[in-house]
Amino acid sequence: GVYTRTPLIAGNWKMHMDHFQAVSLVQKLSWTLTDHDHDFDKVQVAVFPPFTDLRSVQTLTMADKLELTYGAQDVSQFDAGAYTGDISGDFLKKLACTYVLIGHSERRSIHQESDDVVAAKLQAALRHDLTPILCVGEGLETRQAGQHVDFTLQQLRTALQDVDAAAVAELVIAYEPVWAIGTGEVAGPADAQEMGAAIRQELAALYDTETAQAIRVLYGGSVKADNVAAIMRERDIDGVLVGGASLDDEEFANIVRFEH
Ligand code: PGA
Repeated sequence: GVYTRTPLIAGNWKMHMDHFQAVSLVQKLSWTLTDHDHDFDKVQVAVFPPFTDLRSVQTLTMADKLELTYGAQDVSQFDAGAYTGDISGDFLKKLACTYVLIGHSERRSIHQESDDVVAAKLQAALRHDLTPILCVGEGLETRQAGQHVDFTLQQLRTALQDVDAAAVAELVIAYEPVWAIGTGEVAGPADAQEMGAAIRQELAALYDTETAQAIRVLYGGSVKADNVAAIMRERDIDGVLVGGASLDDEEFANIVRFEH
């Protein structure tokens, strides 16, 4: 990464950790990072617990004045009303969430979220002043056909269709090749960089160079403590979105401390 962009290390817990376990994990993580004098202004850290944990995480971070930030794994495209099972951006903002994941590949595949739904959810996040982490990335067949850049940029363009330059500057983009998620198969640093650069070039075309240079692009897919440093050295990668390895406080703390 280019360190005028503050690196962001994000832990996506998926459907793991109830609210008791969440409190314990956040506590252990912040103790470990504090022990190492971690500078949260230099490398930002965010966790993404299940919805039912967020109130507990809020209470803990407020009480202990933790510099750790957090967000939700999804948000409704609607603001309020008869939408059984949905969670509004308004509720997330009231729980002091900083971020929200938008269009994670598991939402797209298991819950059939189309590019248009993803675009609507991105708008909902922006309406509620939540920083969207927009997830994009291709599946294995697309990669094998050599269409991964076209496919991923198409996802990006659709999600950003109604986002103006002022709003897009706030956004974080996560490139997560689906074939590398939870598989132990990590895209090589060069693959991450290829897509990071392509995303930035597309942002420059859609908006302008300055905006494209300001936006953080993360890589996600089987990131671990022992492969994070090589990924973070790539010029257009400004952080990582970590699934499995974010559930262990020692492992995740070592990812956060990728420079050591
Ligand atoms: P993984 O998940 O690190 O377990 O591969 C990444 C993600 O889905 O965000």
